[in-house]
Amino acid sequence: MQSPLEKLNKFLELEREQNYENRAVVGGLDKAVPYWEREARAYQLPEELISFIVEKLQEYPRLQPEQRKEIIQQIFAQIETCGASNKAPAQLVEHPSRHSSKGSQQPSVKKETREEDNTQISKILQTPLERVSGVGKKTADALEKFGVRTLQDLLYFFPRRYDDYSRLKPINKLKYGDEVTVLGVIQAIASRPVRDGKMQLIEAIITDGTGTLRLSWFNKLWYVNRFPKGTQVAVSGKLDMYLGKLVMKDPEIEEIDREQLHTSRIVPVYPLTSELNQKTLRRLMYKTIMQWAPKVQDFLPTSVRTSLKLLELGIAISQTHFPDSQDSLDQARWRLAFDEIFLLQLGVLRQKLSWKSLPARVFEVPDSWIEQRLALLPYELTNAQKRAIQEIRIDLASGKPMDRLLQGDVGSGKTIVAAMAIGMVTYHGAQAAVMAPTSILAEQHYRNLSRVLTQSGDDLPAILQPEQIRLLTSDVRGAEREDILNGLQNGSVKLLIGTHALIEDPVQFQDLQLVVIDEQHRFGVSQRAALRKKGNNPHLLVMTATPIPRSLALTIYGDLDLTVMDEMPPGRQPVETHVLHPLERERAYQLIRHEISNGHQAYIIYPMVEQNENGDGLSVVQEFSRLQKEVFPDLNIGMMHGRLKPEEKDEVMARFRDGQYHILVSTSVIEVGVDVPNATVMVIEGANRFGLAQLHQFRGRVGRGAAKSYCLLIPESDDALENERLSVMVETNDGFVLAERDLQQRGPGEFLGTRQAGFTELKMANLTDVHIIEKARQQAQFIFQKDPELQLPEHALLAKRLEEFWQNGKGDIS
Ligand code: ADP
Ligand code: MG
Repeated sequence: MQSPLEKLNKFLELEREQNYENRAVVGGLDKAVPYWEREARAYQLPEELISFIVEKLQEYPRLQPEQRKEIIQQIFAQIETCGASNKAPAQLVEHPSRHSSKGSQQPSVKKETREEDNTQISKILQTPLERVSGVGKKTADALEKFGVRTLQDLLYFFPRRYDDYSRLKPINKLKYGDEVTVLGVIQAIASRPVRDGKMQLIEAIITDGTGTLRLSWFNKLWYVNRFPKGTQVAVSGKLDMYLGKLVMKDPEIEEIDREQLHTSRIVPVYPLTSELNQKTLRRLMYKTIMQWAPKVQDFLPTSVRTSLKLLELGIAISQTHFPDSQDSLDQARWRLAFDEIFLLQLGVLRQKLSWKSLPARVFEVPDSWIEQRLALLPYELTNAQKRAIQEIRIDLASGKPMDRLLQGDVGSGKTIVAAMAIGMVTYHGAQAAVMAPTSILAEQHYRNLSRVLTQSGDDLPAILQPEQIRLLTSDVRGAEREDILNGLQNGSVKLLIGTHALIEDPVQFQDLQLVVIDEQHRFGVSQRAALRKKGNNPHLLVMTATPIPRSLALTIYGDLDLTVMDEMPPGRQPVETHVLHPLERERAYQLIRHEISNGHQAYIIYPMVEQNENGDGLSVVQEFSRLQKEVFPDLNIGMMHGRLKPEEKDEVMARFRDGQYHILVSTSVIEVGVDVPNATVMVIEGANRFGLAQLHQFRGRVGRGAAKSYCLLIPESDDALENERLSVMVETNDGFVLAERDLQQRGPGEFLGTRQAGFTELKMANLTDVHIIEKARQQAQFIFQKDPELQLPEHALLAKRLEEFWQNGKGDIS
């Protein structure tokens, strides 16, 4: 590519040869200015040089040949003094206003004032939009809907996509289907009424010397006056064919001597609301970017930027909005995506470092204790379970707070691992708490954990007595609640199991040393932090059945210690999964009958509690009575949904578990954790309404015992039979595969299901991009090794940006 200065040189030399008649550029030198200016900027020529030249060239046509000669000499001289005849300097230079450079022959860059300017600039960038000139209240309100409030937000309000009109073609080279920009002169333009006068068709012909091209629009009458015969225009659009001839229907059109925003380039397309028009927004963006992007301070330490060859921030921002080429767009997006992941990693790592820097109580247990406890279990642990227990044992003895994520697919047996951790802590008389997302699950944990922990052997005393283990949910009230709260404070209660009721203020522990959180994706980060604060640097064990893909785990949990239980208890058979036609429902009922006659039980899930007004979709309440009356009058059916009172739910669950109900019909409240190994059929009605992670959780309710289990997915209509999620479910039982798919399909926000701190800030980054993640992680680790508190001057901007980044979702993340 020719440098902009070389190009300029050619024009100016030509002018000189032609005696300064302003003929070197068709239409006059000033016509070349917008193109040149943009190129010069893309080329990173010094701003003051660009503005100097632009100003001179704009004056040029109005001057006498003598003065023109002088101007051209000045330009040459200026290029000399700037020493910019070669490629651009790496650093963007401050952008002096046009005024200040006027008349000054040698504008110089004042480096000393930079720091001052920086504070100034970061203040300006925080200006609310409605106070920015050129942004009306209406526009500001419309942008607010996208969370864009300040000038800085606007710089980071990125295009949704791009239309690539950067490929200029002469008319005789055009082909059907091309998406191009054509430059030409309007040869004719006219309008005529069509469709009985309901619409106006505007037609124009342009020529570029190689041929002519027909353009057409509907109802844009003002174009006739706006682009009269002889106007030089750039038109962009897709080539269509009409009666054997190429036409461009409804192209974007602009006069050539204006700043080209909508044509001839890779054009940004922004997310819109009805109040905002694409062109208006694009114009506002252009103005903002041109003025402010070059002034944005780059918070990335130079070492990081150079070692990864990242674009400078201001350039990355402006190239993301108005890219010069696909390549520079890619580079810009890479840089911005890197920023996001890098900030995320820094935050996570810092969190981790500060957490790990605190001391924690040491809990050690003898080998014999573990062996004896495990010998009491009715089954042999899997190797994965043994490994998990071993890792936890080391953590608890380390003197640093454990911060471990235990990840294991549904049914992998996490509960017993938690029970052992609880045993290790209560062995020394300390307290533990287990928080579960639903009261059904809390109650189940209460029962299972009580059974394991109160079990005694021949010479082996129980770990805890029944009264030392208590259940607290929001419906535990009155005297019982008082009793629990007292027991926690005086230390007589050793294990508290419950829902988020655990984090309420009155709950105070005497000596909380272990916090276990089940199905962690169900909790917000602040809830987790709140529970942890009930103790003094307690150990933390977080359990999840959501198999987090490694790339994502690295990002969200940073250095969180990860234990993956990738092994199922023996004897489990994969659940056989089928998608049924809605009319084949009867087959599902037959299977249920068959399984029940063999002593098993079944679940049927519905997407709704009660039918809505439109009457679409199946609901638990309606279907429950239909099934009971018409389909299974001889069987006992239980009904479960979120509108039942907690004690009613417990009652229903208890009956199902005890086998009093053959069938349990339920909404998604049953989704997590419920463990009834005797159930072998899971029928999911309206299956197309559920997400993959949820479907996998439902399916995990069966296949928990040795018997073969079935999962039948029944979508609402035949159209939904092709549903991609349902086919993936049939394809695999592997939670990890499903999680990867889910992540691809729905993105991390949906996938995690919580408002994870920091995640709202991710606009560019794709959390499946392992390459960026690992690079960012490495760099973050380097930085903290060198400067754990981010106190070095070269990290000052970074520290500030890091605060901003994490502000939007305060709380801890691990
Ligand atoms: P999850 O990981 O989904 O929480 P649970 O801890 O609820 O799984 O365990 C699922 C079922 O498997 C329970 O009924 C439990 O008693 C049983 N289980 C756990 N570990 C083993 C094992 N090693 N062998 C056989 N059954 C086991
Ligand atoms: Mg569980």
